[in-house]
Amino acid sequence: MRTGYDLELVHLTKRYGDTVAVRDLNHVFVKGSYVCLLGPSGCGKSSTLRMIAGHEDVSEGSIVLDSQDVSQLPPALRGTAMMFQNYALFPHLSVRDNVAFSLRMKGVDKAKRHARADEMLALVDMTHLADRLPTQLSGGQQQRVALARALVTEPKVLLLDEPLSALDPFLRIRMRGELKKLQRELGITFIHVTHGQDEALALADEIVVMNDAVIEQSGPARDVWGAPRTEFVARFIGGHNVIALPSGKATVRADAVTLGDDGLAATITAVEYQGASVAVTSKLETGDEVLALLPEEQFFNAPKSPGDAVRLAWDERGLHRLEA
Ligand code: ADP
Ligand code: MG
Repeated sequence: MRTGYDLELVHLTKRYGDTVAVRDLNHVFVKGSYVCLLGPSGCGKSSTLRMIAGHEDVSEGSIVLDSQDVSQLPPALRGTAMMFQNYALFPHLSVRDNVAFSLRMKGVDKAKRHARADEMLALVDMTHLADRLPTQLSGGQQQRVALARALVTEPKVLLLDEPLSALDPFLRIRMRGELKKLQRELGITFIHVTHGQDEALALADEIVVMNDAVIEQSGPARDVWGAPRTEFVARFIGGHNVIALPSGKATVRADAVTLGDDGLAATITAVEYQGASVAVTSKLETGDEVLALLPEEQFFNAPKSPGDAVRLAWDERGLHRLEA
């Protein structure tokens, strides 16, 4: 076992009958980092998180937190806390009592646990609603309560399973800013499960991309985006084209593709206005589709429509060769 790290997964495996949900994961989550576990539905993200939290048995391998193997400990003794996708608040308890619940279970006296709950509610800006019931709150407010309830136990690692998925797009962007700020203030590790690449890029110090029960790639957000290792990562992280060249498969950044007089012949299949940029999809003679993200001014200087013949080119700097 290593020391000085917050959380380490060692040969972690989860089986449900014949299904292998998580296969031999090995990873170190560095203390105090914001990590996003990113991958499509069914790839094993929630199973991984639930094993770390202790809500799911480990089939094989171990979970080491600050040099201690916690894989056989009950959830409350691990130093982790989980915020669930559906918030799972107790409907008959006030906001304050929801937040104080785990302290009550630990036998903390009422004055003390309420004082602590109020501190947490202040942290998530919910002091004014402490006496309400969960049904009297909006989705965003319920989420803040769930967050306060998870943080009241002073975890070393906070586990968040798709915490923003129930919110509308506007609130989602606002809340993700608040999550990031909170993580910075608390200085603890956040492991945030998401299937949204934009969410992962916006939040993560480190992105761990999962696919089909394994870790496909991990690293700082800019490294993963700038140098996807596999075709899967390139497609899932977005903003890249995967193109077959004589020398092998390569990715080309969508913002590096230009439409001009030279380059590969293609036919435009779709044009989508996105505000600051215009997304132009074209089909090469090989059948490969190529996305070009053009600054809106550049596009409207020489507008194009579906069916138009164009030539596509890109700067070498936008080209990246895949390893696998
Ligand atoms: P994700 O969170 O990435 O969508 P999950 O960890 O929930 O993925 O699921 C991974 C795989 O394990 C899926 O194939 C899923 O159907 C299966 N699975 C998850 N939970 C159970 C369970 N309790 N019993 C049986 N299979 C499960
Ligand atoms: Mg899930």
